Amino acid sequence: MCGIIGYIGKKQALPILVNGLRRLEYRGYDSAGVAISDGKKVARVRAMGKIDELANKLKPMTISGTVGIAHTRWATHGGVSEDNAHPHAACTDDLVIVHNGIIENYRELKDKFLKGHELKSQTDTEILAHLIEIFYKGNLTEAVRAALKEVRGTYGLVAMHSAEPDKLVAARLGSPLVIGVGDDEYFLASDTSPMLAHTKEVVFLDDGEIAEITPAGFKISNLNSKSVDKVSSKIDWDEASAQKQGFPHFMLKEIFDQPAVFMDAIRGRYNLAEGTAHLGGLNMTIEQMHKIRRVILLACGTASYASLVGKYAMERLAGIPTEVDVASEFRYRDPIIDHHTLVFGISQSGETADTLAALREAKRKGAYVRGIVNVIGSTMARETDGGTYMHAGPELAVASTKAYTNMLAVLILYAIQFGRLNRLTEATGERLIAALLEIPEKMKEVLALNDGIKKIAMKYKDSAGMLFLGRGVNYPVALEGSHKLKEISYIHSEAYPAGEMKHGANALLGPNFPVLAIITKNQLYEKMRSNVEEVKARYSPLILVATVGDESVSELADDIIYVPPTMELLEPLLNTIALQLFAYHSAVALGRDVDRPRNLAKSVTVE
Ligand code: GLU
Repeated sequence: MCGIIGYIGKKQALPILVNGLRRLEYRGYDSAGVAISDGKKVARVRAMGKIDELANKLKPMTISGTVGIAHTRWATHGGVSEDNAHPHAACTDDLVIVHNGIIENYRELKDKFLKGHELKSQTDTEILAHLIEIFYKGNLTEAVRAALKEVRGTYGLVAMHSAEPDKLVAARLGSPLVIGVGDDEYFLASDTSPMLAHTKEVVFLDDGEIAEITPAGFKISNLNSKSVDKVSSKIDWDEASAQKQGFPHFMLKEIFDQPAVFMDAIRGRYNLAEGTAHLGGLNMTIEQMHKIRRVILLACGTASYASLVGKYAMERLAGIPTEVDVASEFRYRDPIIDHHTLVFGISQSGETADTLAALREAKRKGAYVRGIVNVIGSTMARETDGGTYMHAGPELAVASTKAYTNMLAVLILYAIQFGRLNRLTEATGERLIAALLEIPEKMKEVLALNDGIKKIAMKYKDSAGMLFLGRGVNYPVALEGSHKLKEISYIHSEAYPAGEMKHGANALLGPNFPVLAIITKNQLYEKMRSNVEEVKARYSPLILVATVGDESVSELADDIIYVPPTMELLEPLLNTIALQLFAYHSAVALGRDVDRPRNLAKSVTVE
């Protein structure tokens, strides 16, 4: 959600900033802008819509300067318009800022401080720009510090002033900011993706910190002017993994990445001979693990569907009661937590605002709090007392695919690890690990069905609505398949546990209402078959995801996607890929903006 990029160094800032914005596009945005200082004055250009609109506007202009800031906005306060796009200026363009987040008390600040200031936008951010101007007495860092002491809300912020052309001031509270350290140059951004082409050495700002950056270096302090020492870390993602590599969309590339990155999630984390897993980052002693009586998985969206699979695995393998809670509900629900509760926050970005807040709540109440995240150094990785990286590499399509699969991988490994402390036998553990190791090859078999799935998607693309059905461990798969379809194709769809149909959803069935059902060969196969027969009897077109070799389903199906067999608990790792491809091709067929679906953002940093 929203992207910030800043540059200070010896090179021309404009191309670096515009390319940086392109790297941030995946986060989701509705307008963009840039401001550059040439040492005397600040030039500011903004445009609604895509970065290309901004680039077209900039083409005939000559804007030079080696210091600048740029932004992709995801509107929260004030509609999508050029006036509301960032960077925002105070009374003149001498002082400009970019901001990610929400200034909650902006009305109060306006009434208290801004008499005589003329506002040119409807945003909360502009109020902050004026507030910094009010406190400005020749030192931008101090003005930002003084202004932020008045602010309630969240921010990732970068400010620049024409009177101090060799300085950028950044601050963070609740919205990520990273400093990239290059040779005689520095970058500032809301994540590392726009920096990968320039440097891999980064410093993550923490909440409450202010950074002053000049060509000579950076100084970090807190709101009370106490200086903070920080060491830089190295990012191991490379530039190539953040490119499309010949695929038409990031999403398709990321779907096809899955066999390789799945291995990255499990490599070095299992012991085949002992039938167990070792996720060292858990940071708990065996005694502490033995005392866990309850597991809570906190997540939003796709991560919550991955968590539902985690619940099946944890309960079945480890016998520990496991709940999945949507983070935005959990945080306001007064949840019951004790010292024997282990809480995992699951988030690709590690910045999901609701999940972070829910984890803080759980920590306050005495639970063990751990993270399962993809983005190295993200807030969740740093705020939890341990956890595991998914190692899915950069995921740039808004709709999650490979991060989802790797969430499953990590959750299943945790279930095995806890399982082996009580009821899971070595032999079953060994079988599970061996089956996990076969998954990448089987994923490739599912990916090889791409063309066939495309044909099926073309056939149903004009449906007004769809229903996804599954049972047991495939119910979360149905949820995720339906979620993916609505996210990127905008086709309305719902998912049901197949046994629930009679209690309501059967009323929807009929010749114009296709149903996709997952009927792979597992212990619920017969039950599922009866449900599918009931759908057929009501004339809904049926797409079935079935196990290779199961000829008997052909009499029921209008279309079949045959997937390879695996152990029941691992089925979601394969079955979901078929549904990802189905959603992808439906969206492409409808001409949707697959990687950046409307109204959605990749990293949801506001609640
Ligand atoms: N609240 C600010 C606005 O609406 C910032 C939004 C964002 O994070 O992009 O302009």
